[in-house]
Amino acid sequence: MLTCKYCGSGQVVKSGIVLNKQRHKCKDCGRQFIEGNKKLYSEDQKTLAFKLRLHGVTLIKIAKEIGAPGTGNILQILRAYPHRHVFVATHNTKKQAELTRVLSHHGMQAVTPADLDITLPEVDEAEDSFVGNALLKARSACLVTHLPCVADDSGLLVDALDGAPGVYSARYAGEHGNDSGNMALLLKNLKDVQSEERTARFVCAAVCVYPDGTELIAEGCCEGLIAHSPKGEGGFGYDPVFLPDGKGDQHMSELTPEEKDAISHRGKALTALHLLMWIHAKEMRKAKNAGKK
Ligand code: IMP
Repeated sequence: MLTCKYCGSGQVVKSGIVLNKQRHKCKDCGRQFIEGNKKLYSEDQKTLAFKLRLHGVTLIKIAKEIGAPGTGNILQILRAYPHRHVFVATHNTKKQAELTRVLSHHGMQAVTPADLDITLPEVDEAEDSFVGNALLKARSACLVTHLPCVADDSGLLVDALDGAPGVYSARYAGEHGNDSGNMALLLKNLKDVQSEERTARFVCAAVCVYPDGTELIAEGCCEGLIAHSPKGEGGFGYDPVFLPDGKGDQHMSELTPEEKDAISHRGKALTALHLLMWIHAKEMRKAKNAGKK
């Protein structure tokens, strides 16, 4: 299958003949290209160029490092980079994997803090909503990277506990990210609650903040029940005690990554966010072209 030489998407259509060669247009990133023309720089080279610049390396040194003939080529790479790459604003490797998987499934090139060799500043998740906290994380990362930054904030809402642990899901048992402690406390607090009363949902707010200040917001939800004991090895957080609706007696942690993405709060939020990002990119291109006329 022919894929876009810029973003790798398979959503490619013919767009006229140029100098006797078939030209194609990518429906995802909007770029046009001629089949067979070699891609000049690999993704790794582009990311290396961006990373070095972020760390203050001169254009001449970057050109030497990636084997480019001159600084003009580096400027071109740096200018295009924020249009085709999206930064995943989290140090949680399991979350990174989920975000990267879903974003690349939609033809987006995800970049992690490790790719750019940076440590994100600690963000005090002081807002009382998932959207508010996701925006805090993405805005902070955008200031550091100058890239479009995707962040999510998510949590578990249990009806029998009046919506707890909610925005405190990651630190329900005190220490941030203590998954086994959080699950143990949740099961303890639900010990007298019957199976049918253990309804709950995962909620996710996924946002993208752009260097020009544009902020896109999407949300997703996954309904289910809290099990009486943990089971399964996959996923993270509360997955071992969550029985998603429509999956029988399978715990979330027993699903394959692809099965989880298809039903999860994060998968749904990111799919909706991707659509908003695609519309935004299209509007930006339209405005740019109108400016040229
Ligand atoms: P945050 O979004 O990093 O602030 O953390 C949200 C917390 O909610 C995580 O630490 C997990 O405990 C829980 N959580 C969020 N999404 C999931 C999920 O997909 N599976 C299991 N637990 C999750």
